[in-house]
Amino acid sequence: MSNLLGLEVTKIVGTPPEEVERVKNWINTEEYKEKNFARQALVITPAHACQPLGAELAAHGFEGTLPFVHGSQGCTSYFRSTFNRHYREPAPAASSAMSEDGAVFGGQNNLHEGLENAVALYKPKMIAVFTSCMPEVIGDDLTAFIRNAKQKGCVPSDLPTPYANTPSFNGCHIHGYDSMLLSILQTLTEGKQIEGRFTGKLNLIAGCDFNTGNYREYKRILKEFGIPYTLLADISETFDSPLDGHYHIYPGGTKLDDAGDSINGKATIALGSYSTAKTFGWVKDNYSGKHVSMPVPFGIAKTDAFLMKISELFGKPVPESLKAERGRAVDLMTDAHQYIHGKKFAVYGDPDYLLGYVSFLLEMGAIPYHILCSKGTKKLEKEIQALLDTSMNGKDCKIYINKDLWHMHSLLMTDPVDAMIGDTHGKLQARNAKIPLFRFGFPVFDRVNLHRIPLIGYQGVLNMLSTICNKFIDITDDTCDDRHFEMMR
Ligand code: SF4
Repeated sequence: MSNLLGLEVTKIVGTPPEEVERVKNWINTEEYKEKNFARQALVITPAHACQPLGAELAAHGFEGTLPFVHGSQGCTSYFRSTFNRHYREPAPAASSAMSEDGAVFGGQNNLHEGLENAVALYKPKMIAVFTSCMPEVIGDDLTAFIRNAKQKGCVPSDLPTPYANTPSFNGCHIHGYDSMLLSILQTLTEGKQIEGRFTGKLNLIAGCDFNTGNYREYKRILKEFGIPYTLLADISETFDSPLDGHYHIYPGGTKLDDAGDSINGKATIALGSYSTAKTFGWVKDNYSGKHVSMPVPFGIAKTDAFLMKISELFGKPVPESLKAERGRAVDLMTDAHQYIHGKKFAVYGDPDYLLGYVSFLLEMGAIPYHILCSKGTKKLEKEIQALLDTSMNGKDCKIYINKDLWHMHSLLMTDPVDAMIGDTHGKLQARNAKIPLFRFGFPVFDRVNLHRIPLIGYQGVLNMLSTICNKFIDITDDTCDDRHFEMMR
């Protein structure tokens, strides 16, 4: 067959339906799984986002702060739309909008012009600058660029302008969060350490956590204790502010003065050692008082440890109200255990959350069977394995470090489980495997309000357990025959 120019062309024919069916079945086999796990150069649906997105989250946690992306506009749109979709709230951020000429000659002019405009238009109390891949690839010198911007007057010399290098080809959102938070604290506390001054406060670093309900829960727990605190970096209002008919560009956030004075605190607790490693390392060397790094308090044991640590640091007993909450959480665990005990789960997500899921599931007698982290380390693997070793339910569980959600597909199809825990990106895998997906991670684009429901503390136990067990009961109701359709479950 030839075309209008007389050249030979091959006629395209559709793939025969039987071939489509054959491949559809083949990708669920052990043979395919072997090929899938031999994959080296290609990542398919990773369960993480890029560094600057985490940096933007940290920036949003401070009063009057404008996140500023030095890089291309497309990246900035991606970060903002991810926040918009997850929170269904605006996420104001500016960009130096680098394009081809910036990529060739460097992005300093773009950055200076962008900063000048941002200051004039959005009147921030602080601008937090971080990079996308492009300026990192060409080697833009952010330190010199910011210094020059201040010298040229593009940014007022007294406007705090922390900045962080957040190249996404190295690390992921939790590392960007850590780098940005560190730079913000270094900037705001500069020259603020006063010999002999103690604020008497607890600094609570919440870690890279996208759940606004968790931040409110931390604040409630500390209020119950009656302990003065500074929550770093507090996104609870930023992404969950009241609808009052007016647009507020910077709702909420940790007060800059409080963040500056945090260096004189009585104690600092950093939660989530994987997303606060650099920040905590610096805090330990520079902040007054005591310093502790702890896991995010998912489940009973980790919440107990968190509360007892606060009690120990401040010499105050755990309040009766929180003890009663614990009692209620244990009671509901007892009431609900038969619906979850022995059930197999596939879990994926950020290291600090994964440790929480595994801990919580083991406490409930469930089996965190496939545990997958697409940006993990040997240290994380060892830490999860140590948790698994504490329970007989952990003995057949496997950890997959630096694997993606298409690897998860093969795991689910060849070695099935009862449910998944993760974020929205796993919904295709859950659908293929015909199992429920519990959306406790980030981002969640396809359900509403989940970011408001706390997962940490005893309240988090109640929320996660009720969600999981009631779904399993729903499934029983939906799939049982008439003879077994019962009022009581
Ligand atoms: S990976 Fe790099 S290029 Fe892609 S969105 Fe993130 S910062 Fe931009």
